[in-house]
Amino acid sequence: MTTTTETTGREVFAKRTDEVLRNLVDTGQYKKLQMIEGPMDATTKLRGYGEVGCFCSNNYLGLANHPEVVKAGIEGIEKYGAGTASVRFICGTFEPHQQLEKTIAKFLDVEAAYTFVSCWTATEALFPTLCEPGDIIISDELNHACIIDSMRLATVIKKGVQKTVYKHSNMGSLREALEKATKNPLVNGVMWVVTDGVFSMEGDIAKLPEIKELCDEYGAMLAVDDSHGTGVMGETGRGTHEHYGMAGKDIDFYTGTLGKALGGGAGGYLAGSKRGMEMIVQRARPTLFTNALPVTVACSANKAIEILMNEPQRVQKLRDNVAYARKGISEAGFEVLESPTAICPIIVHDTAKAIAMSKRLLELGVYVIGFGFPVVPEGTARLRVQISAAHETEHLDKLIDCLIKLKAEQE
Ligand SMILES: *Cc1c(COP(=O)(O)O)cnc(C)c1O
Repeated sequence: MTTTTETTGREVFAKRTDEVLRNLVDTGQYKKLQMIEGPMDATTKLRGYGEVGCFCSNNYLGLANHPEVVKAGIEGIEKYGAGTASVRFICGTFEPHQQLEKTIAKFLDVEAAYTFVSCWTATEALFPTLCEPGDIIISDELNHACIIDSMRLATVIKKGVQKTVYKHSNMGSLREALEKATKNPLVNGVMWVVTDGVFSMEGDIAKLPEIKELCDEYGAMLAVDDSHGTGVMGETGRGTHEHYGMAGKDIDFYTGTLGKALGGGAGGYLAGSKRGMEMIVQRARPTLFTNALPVTVACSANKAIEILMNEPQRVQKLRDNVAYARKGISEAGFEVLESPTAICPIIVHDTAKAIAMSKRLLELGVYVIGFGFPVVPEGTARLRVQISAAHETEHLDKLIDCLIKLKAEQE
């Protein structure tokens, strides 16, 4: 086929794509992926830098390279092969998936759970499947991108599902949204409130008891994505609800990831009522049209949760490490945001400065990532230090020494 038009689609695509990419390079926003040459642990091996202290992973409990977690994965792949080469409703479910879902339900003390290849996929299953026309979803403005996209999808797939946003952790704003929805004649189904448990950029936590109280007052259902809270918050690492002394069943639906504290491989889950999970199995597009979590990952994740349930002292060690690191970072002369989580954001304001500091820290031997605009609001660029139970005092001391050096160089 010959084309007579001046520009083909391919040319248009090449031109606009190259423009965007060039702009990212020019404004210092182009992401270069580091190459990792060994497992993720208290330290890790980076191409070009050698072994560096790792402070940017969500490996909060140090389970990503735990020998038993690794062994469970190997045994899983040896027993079951790589996968079913199919979705679960056609070929069936491997035993380890059923076991993992039982373990998650037990861990969270809810009736049932169902797993997916990621928390992103799990969340995408939640609202489009469980909402019906006449429902409204009310979301914290700083919720994770997967929640935002799941809400958008729900309103597109089911016309008549509505969505609205409340100001971050602002209970007056949430009450206003609930009040408004109550008076809206088009809202005649279920009101859903959804929040992250731990917000990833600030490390702050949702006011779950107050949110729950408002939900009860207005008869709304509550969904919590506790991806950064699971394994971290609460005496035994159950999550943000445990931090507040709430019961597992106080939350209607959990979404969570297996790709952070719970093994760090990949995978996500929904957990809550049995009827909710049945509906997900019957109707959710991400269960009907896409494969299950790889069986080896299911085995590793199950082992990771078992270790956490048997060794709650890991959560305490993480908490002690966080306290030690926070104190050291402050004493090094940096402004670290107060938070009860394992996320320690050091505010440096300027994006270019955050990136330069992150680069210098890597040269000094610690791996900390800088976040700037547009990931965080303009003027609030930061280094995000993440602490793990895998860290020993020597690792934390190295981080603090490097920060002290960096401070001296800046002055
Ligand atoms: C990390 C994160 C996710 C994504 O988890 P995946 O399993 O990698 O898809 C979802 N929600 C929140 C709140 C997160 O922090």
